[in-house]
Amino acid sequence: MKRFKIGVIPGDGIGTEVVAEGVRVLREVVRRLQDIEIELREFDVGAGCYLRTGDALSADTIQELRSCSAILLGAIGLPDVRLPDGTEITPQLDLREQLNLYCGVRPVYLYHEQQTPLKGYRKGEIDFVIFRENTEGLFSSRLKPYASNAPVITDSLKVSREASERIFRAAFREANRRRGLVTLVDKANVLPSMAFFRRIFDEIAREFPAIRTEKLYADAAALHLIKRPNTFDVMVTENFLGDILSDLAAALVGGMGMAPSGDIGEELAVFQPSHGSAPDISGQRIANPTATILSVAMMLDWLGHPETVRGAGMIRRAVEGVFDELPNATPDLGGSLRTSEMGDRIIRGLAS
Ligand code: NAD
Repeated sequence: MKRFKIGVIPGDGIGTEVVAEGVRVLREVVRRLQDIEIELREFDVGAGCYLRTGDALSADTIQELRSCSAILLGAIGLPDVRLPDGTEITPQLDLREQLNLYCGVRPVYLYHEQQTPLKGYRKGEIDFVIFRENTEGLFSSRLKPYASNAPVITDSLKVSREASERIFRAAFREANRRRGLVTLVDKANVLPSMAFFRRIFDEIAREFPAIRTEKLYADAAALHLIKRPNTFDVMVTENFLGDILSDLAAALVGGMGMAPSGDIGEELAVFQPSHGSAPDISGQRIANPTATILSVAMMLDWLGHPETVRGAGMIRRAVEGVFDELPNATPDLGGSLRTSEMGDRIIRGLAS
């Protein structure tokens, strides 16, 4: 019997609502697997936790999370809960940095033609993955202290050789498993840090001669994502650009409720929907749990046991089956189902 300890962080807002469905699906899948046991351990992290305890992510929690096989996270943040400098508390970013989860993996897949705002794309014709560098870039400035009366505040964008090499290698390895194209997105025309990023990309590309490459400036990438999303395979980029472009990409396939993700390191990984806590719909129980459920599938794949990989396939097929029927889905997809009803549909799909 192989046992996995899964840390569960529901977080804030709709995080708690969608994680409940992710956990339900996880339990149902594991029930169908041979010789696999999971232990679920819930952790209090986020803006609510900060309000309750004064700490959004305690040192003890981090320590315990390190002992998990993988972590499932809902969403973190409440726009009204802010630090004295005006920024929000962002323990999800602390987790990425402290656990060295350098590889932000964000698959973008169109499950049904009616879910894209673009004309003429059918199921599977938008199918690419964004690899976002998760540990530095412009976000590396976020914890920098500054004087409250400072007349100018500057954020700097950090690009290191080490972090760039590892994200590029991860992107090239992924392209090897997929259709063999890596697109670099940067602003190497303007920023020296990005010119450095591009030079390292070219070096790593030489290690993978069978992989085709393409380089786009971020502004043009925003255009091409709309005009020819079907041409991308693996897109690799800096932290801040990846943050923005992955929301744009999610919109191409139905919105944030359809956008799973993994923050992956060498030994540990956090899986979560790409979306936030959605205060505009939180508490209504209408959030789309599909992104979270697909993140559970990514987690089972990443755990790497033949049975968990089989479980990941079961989830993906169930989601496909549900969307093939073009169901009455959650309101973000034009339907009227509640979060738990969407979860029910996917769980019923597991059986078939
Ligand atoms: P958001 O992703 O929460 O919401 C953007 C839009 O997408 C909203 O209209 C929302 O209703 C919709 N949406 C998101 N998830 C959905 C789902 N599952 N089903 C249906 N609709 C969904 O982004 P925001 O409003 O900019 O941020 C809200 C809070 O979340 C902020 O506090 C922000 O800092 C935080 N945030 C956290 C994360 C994270 O935990 N990784 C990511 C992004 C934002």
